[in-house]
Amino acid sequence: MSEQKIQLTGLTPDAATVWVKSLGEPGFRAKQLYGWLVKGVGFDEMKNLPGAFLTKVAEQALAQPAAILERHVSKQDGTEKLLFVLHDGHTVEGVIMRYHHGITLCLSTQVGCAMGCAFCASTLQGKLRDLTAGEMAGMCYLANRLAGPDRISNIVLMGSGEPLDNYDQVTAFLRLISSPDTLNIGARHISLSTCGLPQKIRALAEEGMQVTLSLSLHAPNDEIRKQIMPIARAHSIDDVLQACRYYIEKTGRRVVFEYALIDGINDKLEHARELASRLRRMQCHVNLIPLNDVKERNLRASPRAQVERFLETLTQLNISTTVRRQLGNDIFGACGQLRAQRLKTPYQDDKQGDAP
Ligand code: SAH
Repeated sequence: MSEQKIQLTGLTPDAATVWVKSLGEPGFRAKQLYGWLVKGVGFDEMKNLPGAFLTKVAEQALAQPAAILERHVSKQDGTEKLLFVLHDGHTVEGVIMRYHHGITLCLSTQVGCAMGCAFCASTLQGKLRDLTAGEMAGMCYLANRLAGPDRISNIVLMGSGEPLDNYDQVTAFLRLISSPDTLNIGARHISLSTCGLPQKIRALAEEGMQVTLSLSLHAPNDEIRKQIMPIARAHSIDDVLQACRYYIEKTGRRVVFEYALIDGINDKLEHARELASRLRRMQCHVNLIPLNDVKERNLRASPRAQVERFLETLTQLNISTTVRRQLGNDIFGACGQLRAQRLKTPYQDDKQGDAP
């Protein structure tokens, strides 16, 4: 079974060399092999490697643990939504966004999600499994190949899944992808978005990586947060904010608070004032997100005028705030929407796999 095979994209260059040598092959073959892997290339395209060597490698290892199953390009803004199929048939999404400052890849960290946020399509079927570092890296290589001739310069872990619920693989991935031997995308160009797991935020602060922490807050108080985010029953906003303060102190990086404005739930101006008082004196930025309507959930985006008033209120209270531009609305831009759509169609392979 392919699951038992080594995922070469998950190995560091040094580990790949050790492994290739263990096959009785010279170390320089590992360098050649690795050079192809990071280009998003499969065994069949590795032209400068001898067939016998590739056959031996392919018996034990996967080159690319993912492939692109669907690609949707937005006519509005060039945003590309990708549906990847993993070696075991599960599917996950990724999005390529083109900005003036470069290309950003939005990447998933789990198949589905266990967090159960009321507004999020990724969690509709729960978590099926964690992604491995090799799968995450592999998807970056495939996306980078597609994005050419420009290169992916930024990564946001804002696809499906809760990255801090898959801590070891995600941190291994972050180390891997920042290596000059891979895509050389430094932690400062990577944002990790979390629903807020205080202990894991503290652990990440200790890693010595300069990743931007994005915290999905979405509410000014525990009462509202508990209505839309089950995780709020386990961790109070105070605990989450304390962990964020620790992160800021350790890394010197400001934290970004994400706040999706949901009509009639969290978008009143008193909520903006309550939020401002909680965030006062914190080195932070608030990103207001117009909710992407998810049909399966009965929650609507706040009217544009209300978003503007919310923004104004926070700004007047000296909270640095912007409204996130919506990209790719015509191609199921929101978290989990493309996969949710796919699951409704006859191709249902990714429902069959069991979570480990
Ligand atoms: N689990 C992580 C990362 C994935 S979600 C987290 O909770 O942060 C990435 C961001 O998209 C989060 O801020 C999430 O709350 C937001 N999001 C999810 N569904 C959305 C929707 N329908 N509209 C707008 N934002 C949404």
